[in-house]
Amino acid sequence: MTHQLRPQPGIMDIALYQGGASKADGFDEVLKLSSNENPFGPSPRAVAAFRDTAATLHRYPSTDHAGLRAAIAEVHGLDPARIICGAGSDEVITFLCQTYAGLGDEVIHTEHGFAMYRISALAAGATPVEVAERDRVVDVDLILGAVTDRTRLIFIANPANPTGTMIPLSEVERLADALPPHVLLVLDGAYAEYAPGYDGGAALIEARETVVMTRTFSKLYGLGGLRIGWGYGPAHVIDALNRVRGPFNLSQTQQDAAMAAVRDRAYADFCLLQNAEQRARLRGALAQLGFPSDESFANFLLIHFADQACAEAAEAFLRARGILVRKVAGYKLPAHLRITVGRPEDCDRVIAAVSDFAEVTR
Ligand SMILES: *Cc1c(COP(=O)(O)O)cnc(C)c1O
Repeated sequence: MTHQLRPQPGIMDIALYQGGASKADGFDEVLKLSSNENPFGPSPRAVAAFRDTAATLHRYPSTDHAGLRAAIAEVHGLDPARIICGAGSDEVITFLCQTYAGLGDEVIHTEHGFAMYRISALAAGATPVEVAERDRVVDVDLILGAVTDRTRLIFIANPANPTGTMIPLSEVERLADALPPHVLLVLDGAYAEYAPGYDGGAALIEARETVVMTRTFSKLYGLGGLRIGWGYGPAHVIDALNRVRGPFNLSQTQQDAAMAAVRDRAYADFCLLQNAEQRARLRGALAQLGFPSDESFANFLLIHFADQACAEAAEAFLRARGILVRKVAGYKLPAHLRITVGRPEDCDRVIAAVSDFAEVTR
């Protein structure tokens, strides 16, 4: 049978999202450092909350996520009425594109920006516009130069993935204040917790009508497998996004586990301290072996190699030892590899393997 079905414009331009590898030939268990997951896993309290929901799986979940929004608001000092929760921050990004961008509209993302911005823009029928970065750092003036009458959304991650770099709050503020009033600035704060003293842009949002932030439980809170994220913004934006959101987009299991995770401050602080210590140690050791990286404000390092062949050889060398890291050629960084900061013993393994790699390639 033939058919005459045609996907909407833009849909067939979407390249399928490539996740971090999770398997290596010859290994039952791998050291997965390819997806920026918390190497310590979720808080034991989140795991307990997850288990406790088993008895009530026949019940539909809360549709307004009131408990989870209250917990997030309390911890971050935000207005719970202006929080929206989604199945990962990916879903909040999807809501933003669906709500604000359509055919003929432009959605700005940067050169090494996260893949979901382009995918969600195309899925909404809009036109993604790529803006260059300056030495792997988002550049406010280059973004401002790309804004047109058709621009509807601008996505920047701060700190950014896969570069790990960030721009100061003063630069974010300068960008927000220079934008015309028909543009919504989205601050992706998937790694905001890792940047000391950075609020993800929360204070900046309070004083403006055209800035939102997205946050996630997938990184610091170690709940990537459960899919929970949230957004925060002005009342008019959250009201519009809630009209697009499905009423049961988050199970009670997701909500309860996330609530327990965000309230477990001692565990989050432990993970943050470990990450800061191990990131500094790993960065120093790899640089000494001849593989430098930009200063990272997140839970991973973007390691520089001499060229693409060298980066690919290193990735294969590590994989042959059961260590999985992320190739980022798809992010226009062919001579780099992204390595998630692991536990102390994980970093020891990475340093030893890279040291051996340096030996054999010398
Ligand atoms: C991991 C990540 C996200 C979070 O995705 P979830 O859907 O919340 O798991 C969002 N933005 C960036 C830049 C990321 O690296």
